[in-house]
Amino acid sequence: MSQLADRLLPWFDAHHRPLPWRDSRDPYRVWVSEVMLQQTTVAAVVPYFTRFLAAFPDVHALAAADEQQVLKLWEGLGYYRRARHLHAAAKALVASHPAALPDDPAVWADLPGVGRYILGAVLSQAFDRKLPIVEANSLRVLARVFGYRGDPREGAGKAWVWEAAESVLPDRRAGDFNQALMELGALVCSPTKPRCGGCPLADVCVANRDGLQVVVPPPKKAKEIVAVREVGVVVWDGPKLLLCRRPPDAARWQNMWEVPHAEVGEGESDEEAAARIVRELTGVTAVAGEELTTIRHGVTRYAITLTVLAATRAGGRFRRGFYAEAKWVTPAELTGFPVSAPQRKLMTLLTHPPKQRKLF
Ligand code: SF4
Repeated sequence: MSQLADRLLPWFDAHHRPLPWRDSRDPYRVWVSEVMLQQTTVAAVVPYFTRFLAAFPDVHALAAADEQQVLKLWEGLGYYRRARHLHAAAKALVASHPAALPDDPAVWADLPGVGRYILGAVLSQAFDRKLPIVEANSLRVLARVFGYRGDPREGAGKAWVWEAAESVLPDRRAGDFNQALMELGALVCSPTKPRCGGCPLADVCVANRDGLQVVVPPPKKAKEIVAVREVGVVVWDGPKLLLCRRPPDAARWQNMWEVPHAEVGEGESDEEAAARIVRELTGVTAVAGEELTTIRHGVTRYAITLTVLAATRAGGRFRRGFYAEAKWVTPAELTGFPVSAPQRKLMTLLTHPPKQRKLF
């Protein structure tokens, strides 16, 4: 299997994309980039990485940062748990290893958010540790090169693909080799149209030899999509609106801000839902008014249609429970809070309302 490294490393040296995190082997830069790249495309990550590194140039700066600032810089990248784990892990590393990030798998394995992929990616790239990685691109390349006919994403297939990734690692340049596998999957060995004619592994690839590219690996099973109808409410009290922060143990969007929103009950009108949602989630009572906008977005397997209504505060006081905290803010202040992508669409509308539209 040294044949793979002999073919792949020269190809990587000649063809890899120049990306900002490839400038150095600094473990902090490698780590931040790899966390951002989980579940996210390279193109989406580049500007986030640049901004994040400008704000937090090293692990000490990240550890000392306020979590709201970290979430704000992550806003729009999604999977915010990654940012919270990265921040918590930075604090732990600065406390335990203040001099430098350690070349020690046991230390990294104990950190929040560090699974086998991050461990292998950081330590192989930063310290040339001979540790494998498996993600969507390298999984596809390995399955095809070996002609693996099971599903490498599940059960025994998962164990197989990690063993395969380990078995092909060269003794030196393991980090470059791991990156080369991913880069080949991204640039050449694509899911539906692999360019085998231009592939450095063409002459050792079983899928290419046997014409199995379409069936290896087997296509992912389609997720069952569930439609959900939600109402969100912009509650006005004079020129200010009610903005709420999710608690740290919320199911998603922990510690991020939003206007109250929830699923519409069966047989409930949007106006009825709006009044109920504000009362149940915040303790404030409100009278629903006109519809402001409809935002469609997806969360895991849910296709959510969020209808947002304006409302006027009628009484009541905010009480903690569903939300950890609330503030009455002006639209101009909304830009300073970390919010999810659909909420940012709404905030943008509130901050820059279309001409001749009165929002409160
Ligand atoms: S030869 Fe084709 S299927 Fe095999 S690794 Fe290269 S691009 Fe993928």
